[in-house]
Amino acid sequence: MISRRKFSALLGASLVSQTYSSCNATERGLVGNKVVSTWNNQKANKVAMEQLVRGPQYLLDAIEKGINYVEADPNDTSVGYGGRPDREGFVTLDACIMDKDGRAGSVTYLEHYMHAISVARKVMEETPHVILSGDGAAQFASEMGFVQKDLMTEESRSAYYKWLEKAEYQPKINVERHDTIGMLALNTDGDLSGGCSTSGLAYKMPGRVGDSPIIGAGLYVDNRYGAAVATGLGELVLRQLSSFLVVELMRSGQSPQKACEEAIFRIVESTDVSEAQVGLIAMNRSGKVGGYSIHPGFNYAITDDKSSLLKEAPSYIN
Ligand code: ASP
Repeated sequence: MISRRKFSALLGASLVSQTYSSCNATERGLVGNKVVSTWNNQKANKVAMEQLVRGPQYLLDAIEKGINYVEADPNDTSVGYGGRPDREGFVTLDACIMDKDGRAGSVTYLEHYMHAISVARKVMEETPHVILSGDGAAQFASEMGFVQKDLMTEESRSAYYKWLEKAEYQPKINVERHDTIGMLALNTDGDLSGGCSTSGLAYKMPGRVGDSPIIGAGLYVDNRYGAAVATGLGELVLRQLSSFLVVELMRSGQSPQKACEEAIFRIVESTDVSEAQVGLIAMNRSGKVGGYSIHPGFNYAITDDKSSLLKEAPSYIN
């Protein structure tokens, strides 16, 4: 039987969604277009904004094109082309995308295709599934017309050979930058979408899948309340489903900032974080943004119709 408390929460939730659908944009306090992304990705935000200003229907294009920009950048060593390989020298990508209607698509362990976020979007839009992995994901990418590419650059190949000399595996806080590109976008209708893409931890074990392609871990969007995305040591995010937790905390009334803080506390109280970084960002339907990390050094980019800035996230450990 449903408890009275649960019933009121459900009633509250349905009232909120009814309110959103029956009010006009101004009554809903809409703030215009806004894009938030992990790390110093203001250029990616600009690419996303170029889509958003075309109209609210370009919300997913904003996420896809913004992330594509980073995937194609050979100098970003944790995403797409130029991303660090696993310890056997294979570049394997993880990505996922979620839209305003709660649909989701994801690829894990994708090889030879640079734009993992675009393949994830196709999984969402063209298949009855949510996640495609490994060879199946690559086969699907080929069927969808994506073109294969060697994802190693001269620089990433020589860094890999250098790493092989000692072959020591020790993720380092903010040094590998753990820079999954995670992006959240809000359009002029007050709708939210999000995505993330990464080559995962440098020199990971073959077969390792991180948090980024797992809905609720690396990314979660609930268009009624807010969206959140994670970067950092994926194993910690996976164990706590941190993005889902952030969105649930926003649903219970917390601000994006407080929700990110609470989700980081949950990680910190459950495990030794002396050598591990996680950063979370969140945005709610009113365009309020939050970000928090375990250690200092995590920043995120906020871009709206008027300005763009890079914000240093406060952290649990100072
Ligand atoms: N979260 C990613 C992973 O664990 C890594 C990163 O953010 O760089 O695969």
